[in-house]
Amino acid sequence: MTTDETSDPAQLLATPPPTPAPSAKRVLLAAPRGYCAGVDRAVVAVEKALEHHGPPVYVRKQIVHNRHVVETLERRGAIFVDETDQVPEGALVIFSAHGVSPQVHERAAARGLRTIDATCPLVTKVHKEAVRFAADDHDILLIGHAGHEEVEGTAGEAPAHIQLVDGPGHVDDVVVRDPAKVVWLSQTTLSVDETMETVARLRARFPLLQDPPSDDICYATQNRQVAVKKIAPESELVIVVGSSNSSNSVRLVEVALEHGARSAHRVDNAGEIDEAWLDGATTVGVTSGASVPEILVREVLTWLAERGYADVDEVVTAEEDLLFSLPKELRRDLKAARTARQEQGSTAGSPV
Ligand code: SF4
Repeated sequence: MTTDETSDPAQLLATPPPTPAPSAKRVLLAAPRGYCAGVDRAVVAVEKALEHHGPPVYVRKQIVHNRHVVETLERRGAIFVDETDQVPEGALVIFSAHGVSPQVHERAAARGLRTIDATCPLVTKVHKEAVRFAADDHDILLIGHAGHEEVEGTAGEAPAHIQLVDGPGHVDDVVVRDPAKVVWLSQTTLSVDETMETVARLRARFPLLQDPPSDDICYATQNRQVAVKKIAPESELVIVVGSSNSSNSVRLVEVALEHGARSAHRVDNAGEIDEAWLDGATTVGVTSGASVPEILVREVLTWLAERGYADVDEVVTAEEDLLFSLPKELRRDLKAARTARQEQGSTAGSPV
């Protein structure tokens, strides 16, 4: 699925992080953490659209689920809206990294909006799987969180064939037409362990349940969970930087607690850390969700250093080098602008 696969996670988890001298305060900093390729692409798409088209540029929903990113782009002229009918006719609107249903594309087209689709290619992959299995008349069991934008977008690809399974507790509610034609797909940012539990329960009910052609939980989500599993057993406290509506950030807190952290908290920034969390903590684990800029992690490290946790060990469980090209509509606009500039330059320089 990606060029930056986790090396053997079982092996990585088997090797403990460095052991500190007793009572030496330290930070275990998980890597990978922070921005994934899909978030980076979506944020750069808004920045380039602002540079090229000038403000305002409308964005349907939060471009990525991070308050700092959204507020920074707002200051530069992005206007975030809930639906395309809040965008003036003919204006430019960008669709977020979480993806949209075909109905959203249709409504935007009906109002003459210019669009840039910043859906992460790994979400688009799940959309395509849904379309393909629906065309084969499968019942599609989409494991994901009710109300999440990504789930709404994917479900909108084949509403008559898709039913949502919001975790293991909802498996008993599933009703299918033909148990021999059932496939599961998932949201990209789920807990790997919980999803496997949901799948196991679904398979107990539907033994012929098909798996997706490749992992739907994306490389970034998986890698960040492997990294936090590695630091959690050594940490009395794990701080996850990420916003409350960031699914993968919230999952990191759960995964840390499930894998031995004595406590784990999500914060948007250093200002939200409660000093009382440090009581009795020698080792503090730090990580961040896939939509979190590194500057917010650096601020947390500075905050911790000021309280005696200046010794930082980075615990690396995978290298990531995946990059996605910008959305095609934006590449087309930028290329046209480049060509126009070149033609202008050659006209200006030609003899009369
Ligand atoms: Fe894409 Fe995964 Fe990042 Fe979501 S978390 S934007 S699916 S790479």
